[in-house]
Amino acid sequence: MKIAILALQGAFAEHEQMFRQLGAETTLIRNLADWRNFMSSPFGGMRGWAIPGGESTAMMRIMKDEGLFEPLRQAILDGLPVLGTCAGLIMLDRNHLGVMDLTARRNAYGRQLGSFNTEGEFAGIGRVPMTFIRAPYIEEAGPEVDILARVDGKAVAARQGNMLVTAFHPELTDDTSIHELFLKMVASGN
Ligand code: GLN
Repeated sequence: MKIAILALQGAFAEHEQMFRQLGAETTLIRNLADWRNFMSSPFGGMRGWAIPGGESTAMMRIMKDEGLFEPLRQAILDGLPVLGTCAGLIMLDRNHLGVMDLTARRNAYGRQLGSFNTEGEFAGIGRVPMTFIRAPYIEEAGPEVDILARVDGKAVAARQGNMLVTAFHPELTDDTSIHELFLKMVASGN
């Protein structure tokens, strides 16, 4: 099993560390050559992709400049399992990669609550720590999207088939349960 992490900018190193801790191989993707290398190797068919937190506007621009936007979009539509955290959630929404049937509201908590830690119920897992950093929430989602967690009534985690997103940063806590859930998705092929 191998997990590729988009490493254009943002918190990719923390994802790498967490996946390795859980026994998965990782590779960092910075350009089209890295992408081709990753996609053409077999890994027993088990591969996944992670988009970290960071700055979605910058990530979007670099992704297009590097020619990664279309290939990634197509691979996700073809079933590549993907985990998106914070800016990664924004990247997967209708207005960016356009693969998930949801709209993210950016910087949704205002200035006072730009960053905060809390704990919340995550469907199928239980209580998990949640670190929010100038985070989005899910403003609207279609019927195919399962909302997995809410904070103050706002949807902050969701799954749609092969795509799992959180508005918070599981990679910045000691709790590995979200990454474990994602590795199970990769192992089961979606
Ligand atoms: N505010 C960032 C954005 O809009 C997301 C913040 C994060 O990923 N920690 O892209």
